[in-house]
Amino acid sequence: MDENQEDKLDVLAATQSIIHKALKKLGYPDEMYELLKEPVRMLTVRIPVRMDDGSTKIFTGYRAQHNDAVGPTKGGVRFHPDVSEKEVKALSIWMSLKAGIVNLPYGGGKGGIVCDPRQMSFREVERLSRGYVRAISQIVGPTKDIPAPDVFTNSQIMAWMLDEYSRIREFDSPNFITGKPLVLGGSHGREAATAKGVTICIMEAAKKKGIDLEGARVIIQGFGNAGSFLAKFMADAGALVVGIADAYGALYAEEGLDIDYLLDRRDSFGTVTNLFKDTITNEELLEKDCDILVPAAIENQITSHNAGKLKAAIVVEAANGPTTLEATQILAERGILLVPDVLASAGGVTVSYFEWVQNNQGYYWTDEEVEGRLRTVLTEAFNNIYNLALRRKVDMRLAAYMVGVRRMAEASRFRGWV
Ligand code: GLU
Repeated sequence: MDENQEDKLDVLAATQSIIHKALKKLGYPDEMYELLKEPVRMLTVRIPVRMDDGSTKIFTGYRAQHNDAVGPTKGGVRFHPDVSEKEVKALSIWMSLKAGIVNLPYGGGKGGIVCDPRQMSFREVERLSRGYVRAISQIVGPTKDIPAPDVFTNSQIMAWMLDEYSRIREFDSPNFITGKPLVLGGSHGREAATAKGVTICIMEAAKKKGIDLEGARVIIQGFGNAGSFLAKFMADAGALVVGIADAYGALYAEEGLDIDYLLDRRDSFGTVTNLFKDTITNEELLEKDCDILVPAAIENQITSHNAGKLKAAIVVEAANGPTTLEATQILAERGILLVPDVLASAGGVTVSYFEWVQNNQGYYWTDEEVEGRLRTVLTEAFNNIYNLALRRKVDMRLAAYMVGVRRMAEASRFRGWV
C-alpha cells in the first residue's frame, strides 16, 4: 500500500478532520480543536501472561480517555491482532461522540490489547484479562472510566475484569464495568443492544427513503455480536437477509439466507462461512444487489474503490469507522443515505449507561423497560441528526459530529479549559 493510500485509511486523521469541520461549523475557536483532537490521557501497558505451555508471553495493551469534561469516560476493550495506539485513540473519540449524540453523562474512552483470542485458550484469555485490569486499575473506576465489551470481548471477560478490579479495591464494584452477565449485575438487553440500536436506525432510515422493511433485501458484513443479532432482528422484521460475512468469507443468496441455521452454527467469534463451499469474498459481497447495506465488522471497508459500485439505497454503519471520508462523499453524491457509526452503533453504550445506572441504584429494570428507553433515545437522536443535516445542508456524518462534539466542547468551556 503506498503512503498516500495509508494516509486515507488513517482513522484517527479522518475523525480529527471531521471534528475540526464540526467545531468550525459550531463557531468554536481553534484551541477547542487542539483540546479535542487527541485523548487527554493515553496509557500503554505491557502485560506478562503465563501461557498454558509454561512460557510467558508479553502483550501490549492501551487505554485511551478522550475527554472527561462531561463525566467519567466510557467505552469498550477490544482484543484483536490489529489493535494499535492510533486505532484506540480514534475509537475513544468516537465514544465521546456517541455519548454526546445520545446525551449520556460520559466522555469517551477505549481500550485494546494486541492479541488473537481465537488462538488462545480460555484460561490464557482469563489471565490476560485480569493482567490488563491490574495494569490499568489506577486510571479506571466507576466514577473515572468504565470499560465494556468490544470486538472479541464478551460478558465472561467482563466478569473476570470485574472480579479482578473488586479484589484490588477490596469491595464489590459492579458499576466498574458494563456488559456483565446478568447474575453479576448486567442489564437485560445489553447483549443485543448494539443490534437493537442499528435496527431502530434502519427503521427510521427506511421511512425517510420510503422503503418497506417487509421484504427489503439486507446485506450484513460481520457476524459478531452486532451482525448476528441484527440478522435475527432483520429476519424477524420480515426483511430478506440476502448476504452475510465473517472475517474469512461471505455468503449471498438472492432468495434470502436461513438465518436461524447460520446463528445456530456460528462459533463464539462469529465464524460460520468456513462450513460452506460456495463462498464469495467480503469485497464481492459489499457490491451485491440489496436495499440496505450494514457494515458490521471493522474499519475501512467502504472506500473510494467500491463506493461507486454499491447498490444499496441505505448504508447503516454498525461497525466503528467502516467508511472512509472519500467514500462518504461519493455515497452522498450518489444520493445514498448513510447513517454514521457514531449514531447507528450508539445502542451498545446507551444500554451500558442503563446498566451503570441500575448498578448505582441497586434496582433492576425489565427487558421491556430497557428496550422502550433505548427506542426513545435512539429515535430522537436519529431524527435530531437527520433534521440538522437537512437544515445545515451537510451529510449525516458531519451533522452527527456536530451534535456529538457540542456537549463536550460546551462542558470544556464551562470548566474553563478553553
Ligand atoms: N464497544 C461498544 C461501542 O463501541 C460499547 C461501549 C460501551 O458499552 O461502553 O460502542
